[in-house]
Amino acid sequence: MSNISLVPFNKIEKEIIEYLKQNLSKIFDAEVDERPPIGVPKSYDKRRRQYLSWPFLEALSEMRLSSEYVLGITEVDLFVPQLNFIFGEAAPMLGIAVISLARLRPSFYGLKEDRETLKQRALKEAVHELGHLFGLKHCPDPKCVMHFSNTLMDTDIKGYNFCPSCRSKINRYC
Ligand SMILES: [Zn+2]
Ligand SMILES: [Zn+2]
Repeated sequence: MSNISLVPFNKIEKEIIEYLKQNLSKIFDAEVDERPPIGVPKSYDKRRRQYLSWPFLEALSEMRLSSEYVLGITEVDLFVPQLNFIFGEAAPMLGIAVISLARLRPSFYGLKEDRETLKQRALKEAVHELGHLFGLKHCPDPKCVMHFSNTLMDTDIKGYNFCPSCRSKINRYC
């Protein structure tokens, strides 16, 4: 059985962490635990008003135990230099990944806050990034969780499950 640790950057709502814990343990047949929060890295870019993603992965790699996969969760908006924003990023060689809740919140787009929608989107992005840690690449099936989300619409179209082809590959790693 695999071990997955969730690491909040600063504070993440308990309800979201609990939802991820329960569902990730079922989906990956894994032991999922929650580590104490760590600080948000000082990678804020004033011009972009976003945080550079890589220092988040670096902070996670420093605390990772060799036998586990680590998923960081942050409320701040993340970017990599080549893209306008990212929902998440994985470093499969290091066993670590991070997701951002910022653009998963309806309120980011001026809409009414909706916790159910937020939780489901967060789960999809979490499964997607962990899928990379389990060795999966992007999948052409738009309903598969490993489909690349260019926009939030892509995230809303896909489910949080793996298509049969991705599922069969992941079973070899688990
Ligand atoms: Zn991906
Ligand atoms: Zn797939």
